[in-house]
Amino acid sequence: MRKKLVVGNWKMNMLTAPALDFVAKVAAGLCGEACVCAPFTVLSDMSKAASGSKLRIGAQNMYFKESGAYTGEVSPAMLRDIGVEYVILGHSERRMYFGETDADICSKVRTALDSGIAPILCCGESAGRENPADFVKSQISAALSGVRAEELGKVIIAYEPIWAIGTGKTATPDVAQNMIHILRESLRVSHGNAADDVLFLYGGSVNSENISDFLKCEDIDGALVGGASLDAQNFLDMAAAAERMNF
Ligand code: PEP
Repeated sequence: MRKKLVVGNWKMNMLTAPALDFVAKVAAGLCGEACVCAPFTVLSDMSKAASGSKLRIGAQNMYFKESGAYTGEVSPAMLRDIGVEYVILGHSERRMYFGETDADICSKVRTALDSGIAPILCCGESAGRENPADFVKSQISAALSGVRAEELGKVIIAYEPIWAIGTGKTATPDVAQNMIHILRESLRVSHGNAADDVLFLYGGSVNSENISDFLKCEDIDGALVGGASLDAQNFLDMAAAAERMNF
């Protein structure tokens, strides 16, 4: 059975002292596993501070080579070295501001899997796009083109309609459920019943008040949360909502 998971995306926020304060509070209060994807600069300290707890640490990006002359990039080996277990790939902000393409994201997903880091693959349409399901299906099939059926269960997919990110306007749970169901069925066509093992998260203005409405949906296995994940108590409340549904 798939377990519900809450993942925080801190984006370009948090210096060392508040990040460690967050870890101290959250590590002490978590009942089940949850993950925070933090800026590179705090990952090592957070990973040490969270060691032995149920808090998992993730990055928000990485390069698709293990080492070499790629000035300014961070490799999966470097992330593994400091205890990072998850990485967000293809977030819409990286596609929009840093020109990441489906081909780049496909290479990163491949390298993450080869490196033992769980990829959290982001997908989602902008406002007003016609046939959003076809668009999002094409993002996923491009990013997962090198992924074998037996590996698929290690991939987490976050459906995040771009118009819902940071706007305070969520998709309705029905709309999110319907889209994620379509995406899961498209994976069934490409990868068979391994589609049932994929964790699908919804992202876009999720908070501690509305998270349960999404977690109740059959195909929604958790949430990717930006702004509301910066506060330790909010994060604990959302993780507790997920944990209640895992029993
Ligand atoms: C995100 O950054 O992935 C996100 C969903 O942000 P927010 O929760 O702030 O909308």
